[in-house]
Amino acid sequence: MKLIYSDDHKGHTGGKELRYDKMIPMSESPERMDMIITALSNVGLNDIIEPKSYNLDIAHKIHDPAFVSFLEHAYPLWEKEFGPGGFATAYTFGMRGMAQTPNASIHSMLSCYTFDVCCPIVSGTWKAIRSAVNVALTGVDQMQQGEKSVFSLCRPPGHHASKDMAGGYCYINNAAIAAQAHLDYGAPRVAILDVDYHHGNGSQSIFYDRKDVLYASLHARPEDEYPFLMGYANEIGTGDGKGYNLNIPMPIGTTFDLYKNNLKIALKQISDYDPEVLVLSLGVDTFAGDPVGGFKLQSPDFEVIGNLIAELRIPTHFIMEGGYLMEALGENVKNVVTGFSS
Ligand SMILES: [Zn+2]
Repeated sequence: MKLIYSDDHKGHTGGKELRYDKMIPMSESPERMDMIITALSNVGLNDIIEPKSYNLDIAHKIHDPAFVSFLEHAYPLWEKEFGPGGFATAYTFGMRGMAQTPNASIHSMLSCYTFDVCCPIVSGTWKAIRSAVNVALTGVDQMQQGEKSVFSLCRPPGHHASKDMAGGYCYINNAAIAAQAHLDYGAPRVAILDVDYHHGNGSQSIFYDRKDVLYASLHARPEDEYPFLMGYANEIGTGDGKGYNLNIPMPIGTTFDLYKNNLKIALKQISDYDPEVLVLSLGVDTFAGDPVGGFKLQSPDFEVIGNLIAELRIPTHFIMEGGYLMEALGENVKNVVTGFSS
């Protein structure tokens, strides 16, 4: 399987996040990619290609161009006020039910365009975001050129990013952009399977009223876990998209027995949908002991996940999302790939 990767994400580092009552360095770090690449390389998966450069046309089909422009200009505006070296983060969030008048200040834009305290913007963030989009789109091109499956090693991840909001370590939705690009190349239907521990609220919201993209997600139930406000089983889509959104929430402590059964349910729905391409939003923060997860999956389980997905026999575009236990991250990602390829 070809891997698409660039070092251009590495400057996206040094931000902090609020984890309940503590301000801590972000768990979403550049070293995550090193772990994954090393583990893949150790089993001979080292066919790495550099991404090509693309303009933002497809990103603008998924995201509000004003939001994308905010992401580009947020850090320079912040730096003007606070000096170099820090990170931009919001002080207030959408004041539901109250009259609001957004303005062009960095603080107003952060309040409008972010929804949590887990998406700090540092000097290298925009370069990383642009690179992740290029990594995703190069994967689409590779599949157009005949590759049956590719792995876009995107960082930062994307599945929490909506049309016009960043959050949860995510700024631009790489999986959604990939899905849109596959459609633009002529695929009539694309499915996104999201196996990250957290519900992909951004991906769901982007495609919620569309039937050309089926979104299926297995995740921790919103009663217990981030993003807390979405991810319920009764969210099935709206309008044309009704019936094309599948949420399978599970309780904290879930082991692979339940997870595997639910994965088979999602895979059956994807198979029935008969997509031209499957975009896999691959998070491995379902692993037991992940610092931001609460499921109990073990490393060999990820091989089974890859194997079950491969049984669909649908061209599959892997997009990297979450996974934060550094000691296990590489092996778990590698196991999904080897399980898929075997
Ligand atoms: Zn996650």
